[in-house]
Amino acid sequence: MIEERFDAIVVGAGMAGNAAALTMARHGMKVLQLERGEYSGSKNVQGAILYADMVEKLVPKFREEAPLERHVIEQRFWMMDDRSHVGMHYRSEDFNEERPNRYTIIRAQFDKWLSSKVREAGAIVLCETTVTELAQDDRKRIVGVRTDRQDGEIHADVVVLAEGVNGLLGTRAGLRARPTPDTVALAVKEMHFLPRETIEARFNLKGDEGVVIEAAGTISRGMTGMGFIYANKECISLGIGCLVADFQRTGQTPYGLLDQFKRHPSVAPLIAGSEVKEYSAHLIPEGGYKSIPQLYGEGWVVVGDAAQLNNAIHREGSNLAMTSGRIAAEAIGLIKSRGEPMTAANLSIYKKMLDDSFVIKDLKKYKDLPPLMHTHSQNFFLTYPQLISKAMQNFVRVDGTPKAEKEKASLKSFVKARSWSGLVGDACRLARAWR
Ligand SMILES: Cc1cc2nc3c(=O)[nH]c(=O)nc-3n(C[C@H](O)[C@H](O)[C@H](O)COP(=O)(O)OP(=O)(O)OC[C@H]3O[C@@H](n4cnc5c(N)ncnc54)[C@H](O)[C@@H]3O)c2cc1C
Repeated sequence: MIEERFDAIVVGAGMAGNAAALTMARHGMKVLQLERGEYSGSKNVQGAILYADMVEKLVPKFREEAPLERHVIEQRFWMMDDRSHVGMHYRSEDFNEERPNRYTIIRAQFDKWLSSKVREAGAIVLCETTVTELAQDDRKRIVGVRTDRQDGEIHADVVVLAEGVNGLLGTRAGLRARPTPDTVALAVKEMHFLPRETIEARFNLKGDEGVVIEAAGTISRGMTGMGFIYANKECISLGIGCLVADFQRTGQTPYGLLDQFKRHPSVAPLIAGSEVKEYSAHLIPEGGYKSIPQLYGEGWVVVGDAAQLNNAIHREGSNLAMTSGRIAAEAIGLIKSRGEPMTAANLSIYKKMLDDSFVIKDLKKYKDLPPLMHTHSQNFFLTYPQLISKAMQNFVRVDGTPKAEKEKASLKSFVKARSWSGLVGDACRLARAWR
């Protein structure tokens, strides 16, 4: 056993772990952070859109030093059928602001940079070290961790579990249940490299401007899932993910979906001639509010994806991870400054602070949407995208058919596919869940 005792041990050096370690080190606490990857970012997968506000709270001048790709000036939503997409695009010159709101990033680079800030703040960061078990005392309090290093038991007043979506430590120690297949998505992602000018021409960009595309529809073959295409400086991140339960039910494969997505006539021209240099796969927590586990206990707190804090509707995860990590660290700092022990009763302040933040407020707002999308995936991800695409084509195609007849035909196709009661029911269910 290592004799040295720490104020806090952070397991994981992703967005949540780095935010927690950085904040606690700045509070003057003695922090040890353990990461199984070769370096922070080496094992992390993200699209990746970075939300500036949450980084700014950690490193106010991050824009001057962090490795950022492009600032996002345009968001496209595509509803796709096999040959078309119906799009809603929002592009604004306002996003060419002095302090842009969103950026595309490459996690391997960004996390490495954020980790350097953690080290500068005074935390000890130990990579290539896997935490194998949580150490408990005879009263079942978490008192530290065991690692795969020799003499690997290390003690601390509190352990921050930032081990990501598939966090086995918490489940093995009985602190929470394993995520079920209907609450996690499996996503695959590729990085397509192209010359900078080609990307800018294809996406109508200049300088460091960026575009992100979120896509849903028949690309997921009736499963609950979405695709994405994000423009970086010299590469395009492209991926697709669906609920694990849906992959199990349908027998579809993630790489099969990705292949189809890349061959879609709206997508293929964007990546034509590119060189794929990276391929990755990762789980995403998608169960929302109802799948959040117990967030604290005797000597421990859980943050980020390990706590299922991911807003699948708005495609936000890293910002919830960073915010929960920072808030947990502030709560721990507060308890420490009062000279009190890290008991469950004291650590419950973390949950109170998180409840008051956008993290829980947003997840609570959409608490009924993930199950609705899952149980009605055939309608929302297959039938409606096909119907809407046909209706749009009918609307824009000029062929001598009177407009009134066209509208009647479109309406008839909706009623034929879903019936009046089905249409009204779907609209009400969606409105209720959105509210
Ligand atoms: C394909 C994809 C696209 C996404 N796109 C976006 C996006 O555009 N924007 C956005 O905001 N979010 C996005 N997300 C979600 C986002 O990536 C996550 O919400 C975020 O990474 C969560 O951060 P985290 O620190 O909680 O977990 P992670 O980033 O997963 O970090 C967990 C860390 O813990 C380490 N670890 C695990 N177990 C151990 C152990 N036993 N010992 C030591 N270390 C351990 C891991 O190696 C890892 O480094 C996306 C996710 C995926 C998969």
